[in-house]
Amino acid sequence: MSDKPVVVIGSGLAGLSAALTIQSAGYEVEVFESSSKIGGRVASDYIDGFTLDHGFQLINAKYPEFLRLGIIDEIEFVKAPRAIDFSIGNDRFTIGDPRVSPFSSLSAQSGNVLEKLRFVKYLASSSHAGNSVADELSKSGKLYSRILEPFLEGVFLSPLNSIDAVTGKELIRSFISGAPGLPASGVGSLSQQLGARVKKINLNHRVDSLSQFAGREVIVATDVTTAAQLLDIAEVPKLASSTTWYHEVPNDFSQSNRLLIDAERRGPVINSIVLSNMVKSYAPPQRSLLSTTTIESASESEVRRHLSMMWGVQTQSWPLIAKYEIPKSLPIFGIRHHTVTSARVSDNVFIAGDFRTAPSQNGALLSGRLAAQELLLNKGA
Ligand SMILES: Cc1cc2nc3c(=O)[nH]c(=O)nc-3n(C[C@H](O)[C@H](O)[C@H](O)COP(=O)(O)OP(=O)(O)OC[C@H]3O[C@@H](n4cnc5c(N)ncnc54)[C@H](O)[C@@H]3O)c2cc1C
Repeated sequence: MSDKPVVVIGSGLAGLSAALTIQSAGYEVEVFESSSKIGGRVASDYIDGFTLDHGFQLINAKYPEFLRLGIIDEIEFVKAPRAIDFSIGNDRFTIGDPRVSPFSSLSAQSGNVLEKLRFVKYLASSSHAGNSVADELSKSGKLYSRILEPFLEGVFLSPLNSIDAVTGKELIRSFISGAPGLPASGVGSLSQQLGARVKKINLNHRVDSLSQFAGREVIVATDVTTAAQLLDIAEVPKLASSTTWYHEVPNDFSQSNRLLIDAERRGPVINSIVLSNMVKSYAPPQRSLLSTTTIESASESEVRRHLSMMWGVQTQSWPLIAKYEIPKSLPIFGIRHHTVTSARVSDNVFIAGDFRTAPSQNGALLSGRLAAQELLLNKGA
């Protein structure tokens, strides 16, 4: 085994987790990152006093890998409400976790009691290989079509008939039992904090071939298409794309700090939230930031038209602050996807990334740790 520092390619959550695992076992590690900042998909920009995450995403403080890393205490975590809003016609309703808002969960607008009980039963039962999430959830009638389907499409960034039921349920359960929220300084501050623990990260260093690391131990923790090129892997999972639109909105237009979905699916918007109502520091004082996500291609005027129906206000005057198109947002864990066990690709080369475990921050961190542990075992450590 090589005495030189272990090489990790990619400083997303998978790469950072791999590097930290190697480091804490007492070995040197060197991370190579092609972009100018660490964090991969978990990154933020700061423009004109606004905090703009690269795509709307929440952090689940109860993810096992976050607990293991003890990172949540370091990021000024702001909890998200355990309820969402949905629009029907010109009205907006709230549905919450029955443990914290029992009355809202009883509203007939979100489905009848039987449909809600079916969902509880769904959560408690095992899913069947070969089914999609839609196959198993669509029995929940109006609760499904009005709430679960539009909400969960925003989680998977894909239609639910394309998502494997077993993997899907794991993520849905972790979401329901989790503690979602955001760091006060944006999701990117999570990666920054983790990155600060890694001794050597080379930014702006794109790796195009592994030949430069001949004889060294390498963990490839890039996105799946780059990993496939570097490692000559023929088959890669499909990827879901998404776009997040950031508008500045008038301060008084909504007091809600909850995610809004459209129960009637009248346009391309999957979800929308006044982010600065949830985390004040996302906008400068006296200003408000709206985050909106789409997964189909849509023009700005289509987005504005749909937002106008969902929020019940005129939207033409809202300045567009930024738009993030993320073509490789999430790997799609299609029906009967193959679970790969070993991260070892060849003698000294290992692979990590959310596409190996689950399409989530926890999945990425776990994949990095598992790849590093396998490398350490291989080293005889
Ligand atoms: C819009 C959106 C919403 C999401 N919502 C949630 C959510 O609410 N909850 C949740 O848990 N997860 C969510 N996720 C998923 C989560 O962000 C990802 O699963 C996770 O960040 C993936 O981490 P990764 O390290 O596997 O990959 P990446 O973050 O893609 O990291 C790969 C890194 O490799 C670098 N790289 C690529 N090629 C090279 C090269 N040739 N040389 C050197 N470096 C290279 C890249 O620049 C990048 O930094 C969301 C993702 C998106 C995009």
